Amino acid sequence: MESVRKTFGGSVVLRDVHLEVAPHTVTALIGASGSGKSTLLRCANLLEEIDDGAIWLDGEEITDPGVDQDAVRRRIGVVFQAYNLFPHMTVLDNITLAPRRVHGVARAEAEERARELLERLGLAGKADAYPDRLSGGQQQRVAIVRALAVRPRLLLLDEITAALDPELVGEVLEVVRGLKEEGMTMVLATHEMGFARDVADQVCFLDGGVVLERGSAEQVFGEPRHERTRRFLRRIV
Ligand code: ADP
Ligand code: MG
Repeated sequence: MESVRKTFGGSVVLRDVHLEVAPHTVTALIGASGSGKSTLLRCANLLEEIDDGAIWLDGEEITDPGVDQDAVRRRIGVVFQAYNLFPHMTVLDNITLAPRRVHGVARAEAEERARELLERLGLAGKADAYPDRLSGGQQQRVAIVRALAVRPRLLLLDEITAALDPELVGEVLEVVRGLKEEGMTMVLATHEMGFARDVADQVCFLDGGVVLERGSAEQVFGEPRHERTRRFLRRIV
């Protein structure tokens, strides 16, 4: 992201945001509620139109007006706080819907990939279950499988553990850790500071729509440069 600016009805929500995400790295976005984390992720996925600046993916300017936005979105997986599974579909159908309908993958191939992912994420027995039969942690893991089913280049995770009971947070964070080990490129907004410190290669502290601080986890958590960052971390850790 280069000089990205986003406004909603005259109020500036992202201001001159620069962000570079290297392949196979994890970037954590931290900051108070309302600091712009979700908006940044939504802009990255072209769910929101930016007012100024540019966003690039694999060397292509995806904010160029001539770009095929659907094709861009197909390369980016997104998981939100609320799992958003379709309640009337089985786990398997939830996962294979996009590969089949949007990517034109044959049913057998889509199901094979889905079952392989379910097994990897510890959900092997759940393919034929409906979402309401699963725990929150399991539902969120299915949402991650669904995002992975289309083989995205980049995964955006927006506070994916925020709606979970505390005892279910760990199993979802373990999945993210596993994906990192497999080399998945991820950008995640999180309030789990211990996890961010542990898993992130890069940490961005957002404050009022500005990336106030950006550095390694060690630097941002260990020696924050700004008083505002220090105050935020004191409050939350
Ligand atoms: P965070 O995810 O860090 O809590 P958000 O990106 O959700 O922050 O919100 C940043 C700011 O943008 C907030 O002030 C919020 O009220 C505002 N905002 C977000 N989405 C919209 C929208 N669709 N319309 C108007 N204002 C919005
Ligand atoms: Mg948010």
